Amino acid sequence: MAKIPPFHSIMQKIYHDDTNCPDARTIQVNHKRQGTAGKQKCLFCQRLNVKADMIQEVRQ
Ligand SMILES: [Zn+2]
Repeated sequence: MAKIPPFHSIMQKIYHDDTNCPDARTIQVNHKRQGTAGKQKCLFCQRLNVKADMIQEVRQ
């Protein structure tokens, strides 16, 4: 589980910020751009981030 700076595909209407997102993994390198581009966060990444937060809370 790895949260990274936001990136998006010019072919998608959403952005991603987690390397484990199955949707983000389908993005072709030449379609990938840095930043959110004002798009909404992908649902997969939202869930992955929530999981990461929960694990951190347990560890603290
Ligand atoms: Zn995603």
